[in-house]
Amino acid sequence: MARRPIMAANWKMNKTLREAEDYTAALIPRAEQAEGVDVAVFVPFTVLNEVARMSAGTPVIAGAQNFYYEDSGAYTGEVSAPMLQDVGARAVLIGHSERREIFSESDDLVAKKTKRALDAGLLPVVCCGETKEERDSGGFWEKIKTQISSVMDALEGDVDGEKIVFAYEPIWAIGTGDTASPEDAQDAIGKIRDLLRELRGDAFADSVRILYGGSVKPENIEEIMAQPDVDGGLVGGASLDVESFGKLVEAA
Ligand code: PEP
Repeated sequence: MARRPIMAANWKMNKTLREAEDYTAALIPRAEQAEGVDVAVFVPFTVLNEVARMSAGTPVIAGAQNFYYEDSGAYTGEVSAPMLQDVGARAVLIGHSERREIFSESDDLVAKKTKRALDAGLLPVVCCGETKEERDSGGFWEKIKTQISSVMDALEGDVDGEKIVFAYEPIWAIGTGDTASPEDAQDAIGKIRDLLRELRGDAFADSVRILYGGSVKPENIEEIMAQPDVDGGLVGGASLDVESFGKLVEAA
């Protein structure tokens, strides 16, 4: 089954309102030209409303970098799925390694958020990945398997594979310039797809999109995208400049 590739920008904690507007205005025509690829930008809450407003009716999918699974209440500092949708978000990153490592997000929390995003109709992009120590000690697959399984266990009933995206992001490759080799990316993502096949069957495994993230840049995107199980990229540093992200969109 042919899966539609996705190129996704993660701005992290960057960009003022003015910078976000300039970037979005420059990205929209590039996304319109790039047929056959979904283009998503995961932006800070402070600019989400504006990026979503500018992107409405264009191929650019505006997304948030986080949310909380309850809809409202005494959760100081948090925003909910209905709040994201109210300002036009269509997707959300869940369980990015920076959320897991710096803000101590657990597998259980990531699973609850994924369920809530799906129920709300937001596209969850669920991140997983291992540390350098876990890879060097041979424990890499156990970590990834636990992260993916806990998410899938939380999802009851049939789940449409097109409504959820996973991103394999080895922590040692994020923001370090140290990219996983295309073979290592394929190995991990192929294993994730096999696990999803075991857990949810062929239709789910063949339609779910799995991205690679970790120092993706215009110089290495082609060999990464050439891997059979890699359906796109989740890009931090190289997505901050719209010219560079535009090249990645074209390459996808
Ligand atoms: C990310 O933030 O998801 C990421 C992969 O960052 P970078 O591309 O900078 O490694």
